[in-house]
Amino acid sequence: MDYLELIPKPAAGGVNQGIHAPSAGFLEQLLGMPRDSFTGDCQPPNNPTFKKLIATKNVGPFKATGLIPALDSLTAVFTDVKAAVPDLYALLTSNGMLCCRFRHIGGKNVPPPSSHSWGTAIDFLLDGKIDIQGDNKVFRGLGILAKFFNAHQWIWGAAFPTEDSMHFEVSQELLLKWKDSGTFSP
Ligand SMILES: [Zn+2]
Repeated sequence: MDYLELIPKPAAGGVNQGIHAPSAGFLEQLLGMPRDSFTGDCQPPNNPTFKKLIATKNVGPFKATGLIPALDSLTAVFTDVKAAVPDLYALLTSNGMLCCRFRHIGGKNVPPPSSHSWGTAIDFLLDGKIDIQGDNKVFRGLGILAKFFNAHQWIWGAAFPTEDSMHFEVSQELLLKWKDSGTFSP
């Protein structure tokens, strides 16, 4: 299968069923602010309380730095991907997870901070190629990957108002599940 074939983005409602992307306000309330100031460029977190929630781990195809339960969840997603579509798994590399910055939309930096700031979002390259944001087309392979991410309650950015199909992030519903099970309690 040609995983790099460009196909139209999914119809609204065709993906991310029953899950929602968290707002920056929700992430701030749950996890605190990662740092005290933001620009369009990646900066590290500088809030010592928040930094305790972050780690670097091997998640399967690569090492990633992000929110600890998000890394564990990513590992579970990749275990499923590797078992079902090993040739797709072999093409995956990270284009960034934890990165404290404003959102990038249409080539502009747009407040509030992106979910990447909390280490709950990850961008992928497929065979080293970037899926261009906002062209309403997606790599076929990312659409296949999205089924595995949705099954683990991760949101696919292809359905965002500005299509962002290389982007996946932990849903508000999964964050609440972690909160309710005491994941973020001291
Ligand atoms: Zn992203």
